[in-house]
Amino acid sequence: MEPMDDERDTSSDEPVGPTFEELGLRPELLKALSALGYEEPTPIQAEAIPPLVEGRDLLGQAATGTGKTAAFALPVLQRLAPHRRERPPVGLVLVPTRELAVQVSEALHRYGRELGARVLPVYGGAPIVRQLKALDSGVDVVVATPGRALDLLNRGSLHLGEVATVVLDEADEMLDMGFAEDLEAILAETPETRQTVLFSATMPRRLDSLARRHLRDPVRISLGRERTVPGEAPRVRQTAYVVPRAAKPAALGRILDVEAPAAAIVFCRTREEVDSLTETLNGRGYRAEALHGGMSQEQRDRVMGRLRAGTADLLVATDVAARGLDIDQLTHVVNYDVPSAPEAYVHRIGRVGRAGREGVAITLAEPREHRQLKTIERVAGAPITVEKVPTVADLRNRRLELTRTALRESLLTDDLDRFRGVVETLSDEFDLMEVALAAVKLAHEAGGAADDDEEIPQVSFRTDKDAARGPASRGPAQRGTGRSDGPARRASGGPAARLFVGAGRDAGIRPGDLVGAITGETGLTGRDIGSIEIHQRFALVEVPEAAAEEVVRALRATMIKGRKATVRRDQAQ
Ligand code: AMP
Repeated sequence: MEPMDDERDTSSDEPVGPTFEELGLRPELLKALSALGYEEPTPIQAEAIPPLVEGRDLLGQAATGTGKTAAFALPVLQRLAPHRRERPPVGLVLVPTRELAVQVSEALHRYGRELGARVLPVYGGAPIVRQLKALDSGVDVVVATPGRALDLLNRGSLHLGEVATVVLDEADEMLDMGFAEDLEAILAETPETRQTVLFSATMPRRLDSLARRHLRDPVRISLGRERTVPGEAPRVRQTAYVVPRAAKPAALGRILDVEAPAAAIVFCRTREEVDSLTETLNGRGYRAEALHGGMSQEQRDRVMGRLRAGTADLLVATDVAARGLDIDQLTHVVNYDVPSAPEAYVHRIGRVGRAGREGVAITLAEPREHRQLKTIERVAGAPITVEKVPTVADLRNRRLELTRTALRESLLTDDLDRFRGVVETLSDEFDLMEVALAAVKLAHEAGGAADDDEEIPQVSFRTDKDAARGPASRGPAQRGTGRSDGPARRASGGPAARLFVGAGRDAGIRPGDLVGAITGETGLTGRDIGSIEIHQRFALVEVPEAAAEEVVRALRATMIKGRKATVRRDQAQ
């Protein structure tokens, strides 16, 4: 048993759902789920699995990203005799596309590993001979597009007489693609006693009549219908990026480079994802720490200690592990995947934007996940702006800007005399401009600005009619560059001034230190302070223009983290 499963933290106000054990799943499935790093059922799984295991029919409204595949796949596998040898399938899943057929059969295969489940995807465009052979040698679950399933039925190669469960996945899309008649013909070949499960992102009327004819007294499940989160929305800038799965690690790295968060938490779905992403981020030079339910309490405490002490700046965590965590200095919450339910999204982003401070919530969505993002946007009651992943050029500009700021600071404050001889000798041979260029290059590279030439594909959401109405239609919003983006104007209104503080991460400065110094020495409150950026050797903080001079004077007169620091208006504005 994993340490965390025993001690589910119920101390926070976040709703805690049932465990996979409590859903009544058999040990082989529990073992497979644990090996995959799934820590708890998603809301759709918690609702759908118990009635499905009981044998009820089900009509579920759920989009990709909610965990709907496991919601129907696990009950299908639950009924399967382990290492079954009979040839005809007992499970049939119908899906609209070849891509989904592959995805769903991979999922069934992963969950059914311990049971020795034989899963076969069949779809048009692939050599039929191989599919015929596989069917002939015996299959437990067939995942098919309707056209190919009908083809195989007509050839007499697919026998549906022993099917115990039929799943219609993404039923609305199958109807949109003109498969209505094919579906009727296929269902007619299955036993009347079968269990029928229908999942669909939308419920158009045509689907209702299909459901009425083929489902018996179905359990109905629909998530994200109501506004579930009362109260004031936190002051959080909410952004989503559409990224193909394979490009996610690179895209996240790029976004973090541009955002330059002081402290961020990155949420992943599974333990595996947490571990591999932590490794990737550390490889990119971040100080990332993993936090998941497979870790002991002692390991978790150590990680939290490192985050609080500022020796780690990114926490990569699952929902379960992060439950109840309260980290003051967080500036960014990143959803590495679209959360499986709006409630999870709201709880996650509630970790920033506290006490009137501004926070940033970033979500990476795959092209297929637009519906789930739309549901979240509606339920959470706050707009999510879809932005473009920063390009290589954006990143280079941002890095050059940081180098320029660091050089300006050195010119203003450092004693550079001991380098004079070097410049003078070189200037006999080279133009001064060239000498300066070489010095800038070295400084730029020493700042960890390794060149990252990989262009990340710019994609948009899959369904255009939806995307046209959904968040993507908000168009190319102004792309943020961290909490310092845009004109210097705070969300609460009134112009703001950006101040340069000559002490940064090297001096152990954290956002809280600046907020503490400013609120302690001036009449300002935390609410008045805008964005804060902590860099290696300096920090930038936004304060109301009207109070800028007062803050500069006060900070010059005080100690920040036990030392005096240069404080002035930032001239890069
Ligand atoms: P789906 O909505 O079925 O397309 O699933 C979305 C993603 O969530 C897939 O990558 C699944 O592997 C993952 N997933 C499904 N259920 C869980 C769970 N309970 N915990 C973690 N990840 C899950």
